[in-house]
Amino acid sequence: MAAIRKAMEGTESVQERLDDFVAAISTSIKVDVASIYLIRGNNNDLELSATQGLKKSAVHNTRLNHGEGLVGHVALTAKPLSLADAASHPLFSYRKETGEDPFKSFLGVPILRGGRVLGVLVVQSREAREFNEDDNEELLTIAMLLAQIIIEDERTGGKKAALKGITLAQTKPETIRGKAFADGLASGQAMLHIVPLSPSERLSKDIEAEEARLEDGVKILRASVDSMVSGEAASLNRASKEIYETYRMFAYDRRWVGRLREAVHSGLTAEAAVERVRNENRARLMKARDPYLRARLHDLEDLANRLIRALSGENITAGQKVLPNDAILFARDLGPAELLDYDRKSLRAIVLEEGAASSHTAIICRAIGIPLVGRADGILDFIESGDPVLVDGESGIVNIRPLETQVHGFQLRMRIRGEVNKAFEAIKDRPAITQDERHISLQLNAGLVMDLPQLDQSGADGIGLFRTEFQFMVSNFMPKLKEQTDLYRQALDKAGERPVTFRTLDLGGDKILPYMDPVPEQNPAIGWRAIRIALDRPGLMRYQLRALVAAGAGKYLRIMFPMVTTVDEFTAAKALFRKELERASKFGADLPIKIEIGVMLETPALAWSINAICDHADFVSVGANDLLQFFFAADRDNVRVADRYDPLHPAAVSMLKDIADGCRRNDIPVSVCGELAGRPIEAMVLVALGYNTLSMPAIGIGPVKSALLALNAEKLAAYIKPLISRDSRLSSIRQAVHKFCLEEGIPV
Ligand code: PEP
Ligand code: MG
Repeated sequence: MAAIRKAMEGTESVQERLDDFVAAISTSIKVDVASIYLIRGNNNDLELSATQGLKKSAVHNTRLNHGEGLVGHVALTAKPLSLADAASHPLFSYRKETGEDPFKSFLGVPILRGGRVLGVLVVQSREAREFNEDDNEELLTIAMLLAQIIIEDERTGGKKAALKGITLAQTKPETIRGKAFADGLASGQAMLHIVPLSPSERLSKDIEAEEARLEDGVKILRASVDSMVSGEAASLNRASKEIYETYRMFAYDRRWVGRLREAVHSGLTAEAAVERVRNENRARLMKARDPYLRARLHDLEDLANRLIRALSGENITAGQKVLPNDAILFARDLGPAELLDYDRKSLRAIVLEEGAASSHTAIICRAIGIPLVGRADGILDFIESGDPVLVDGESGIVNIRPLETQVHGFQLRMRIRGEVNKAFEAIKDRPAITQDERHISLQLNAGLVMDLPQLDQSGADGIGLFRTEFQFMVSNFMPKLKEQTDLYRQALDKAGERPVTFRTLDLGGDKILPYMDPVPEQNPAIGWRAIRIALDRPGLMRYQLRALVAAGAGKYLRIMFPMVTTVDEFTAAKALFRKELERASKFGADLPIKIEIGVMLETPALAWSINAICDHADFVSVGANDLLQFFFAADRDNVRVADRYDPLHPAAVSMLKDIADGCRRNDIPVSVCGELAGRPIEAMVLVALGYNTLSMPAIGIGPVKSALLALNAEKLAAYIKPLISRDSRLSSIRQAVHKFCLEEGIPV
């Protein structure tokens, strides 16, 4: 390894570096030939790029087609190949110009970077020698170092240093289409959540000490996995127990640990050994079509990452990293705690290979305004740390190493967004009053402490929907009574005079808690969720109502129940609240000075019971996301159908009108929460239908207010009236409303 260490020291160009490496290898492993073949171009040809022992004239002249010969086979399978008599192998392909006839034995290993094969490192010798496990290990180690160093050379050395016609680091612009999980545009440089080791951290100085470190690390890892399975078993559900069992199986897998030991024995640091074995597994498993096997890859990688953290003495479950101030974070997946570990001010955007719109990470990103693109399949194979990146959280498109024209276009869009935001900022403190003097209350949808600053930033008139389940979803354990009370109190304090409407837990459906057993259901959205769970198992809701009563002491407390279908359900939930109030009063606690209990109108059945529900509810809040998914029978989370029906379909609009009319007749305040209310066109229609309170995500408030300030609501109401009659043949009134806005000069 001494010769290799020397070859790692500075040289001018990638070619010189390769020449140094082959020379060092032939002395280190005592072979007659050492050659490097690198993949060239998009057709995956392999080109002889450096050699010690074959004819130098063949360098950059000899090429093998994709998969051709023994070298091609190694590249294709990403696995080492060792043969005592190479020429007798059926795949052997003889190239006269290299002068390789006298060499019998062959050992080839893939040169891997991440899971990508960059080329093949080959040694050959005259005698029909059996290469042993140590030779194999040593060559794999050298191949890994080689990959990193030459890529670094190329990146830092520019054109002068690069190899002719071959680029190792990726330079091609790539456009990857993912799913937009959190809105926003960002431009910056890529940062990998799992950072590769630097070359100096790879070669060990003392093999024995390194072996001891590895054993210690494995012990810590095993202990932590054991405690995941057993120690916290009481609070684990079946699904996570199964995952942890798989982890345990890998952590105790003798072959995995055996390969780590071999890698350390060949001269790597323990961390580099883990990384190398991880890359080999990755290269192999990425070729697997079987989704089960690919999922195992994720488990194994997670385990490897934990082991690296255990080795560096870091907390095994959390990472803390410093970022450049324009960082775009790339990861396979990211938990909410990991996300919150990063300095938010430097984080411009996040891109994940996995993730889901309803994941906790997505919820947090939306709350703190960081664009998030998920399901960007395979993106980690295209990205290197430091690559320039554009992330479009509107469309889910990620441009890696973008062309100049793409950068210009994107910057223009960012500037326009910035200007528009400035215009919204200017009207932040103005009340939303329409041209015909209607005062509209624009409120915020929130749920986490980190949402609260947006109350002031957006100029909202209150919190119209506080989704209390978010607190439950972002923690690993059930929040205690005090934690719930603290959160509700903070929301009320921050809002001051402005109203806050707490929605009781809306769990079930796709909102699964990591610490509760999921109940398998065919149709979770119309299954055992929200108030249905609360009434069947009242313990959890009573606990929550207790926290709400405590937080509301001396204040104005507004509570609403989700997913109510019948009036009975609502009165039963109200009775539970009354019990908690009586309990607090019996204990002599301070009580809220004013209480209002409302209902979320999210089912068509309740829309048809408007008079009856108005007899019992202090207010009605239309949960349009759910109401419309049930109305159209179209799953809001299913991308194939979610956008199939326009909320501005005359049938939906006339239902919304009936609800507003019904509430007005009964003199009950009515509002709309849900995404619909945060979009200017829809918001104007709602106001025209008679809604005076709209609750929406923070980014909706500026655009909605600016549209409402220019709107004559009565005029729009008259304009849409004939369009939404039962005779209407339209599938949406959107275009008509657009036309109205154009004629009226309303900015949308
Ligand atoms: C709704 O359904 O419109 C709503 C606001 O509730 P959620 O989106 O949390 O289901
Ligand atoms: Mg809902």
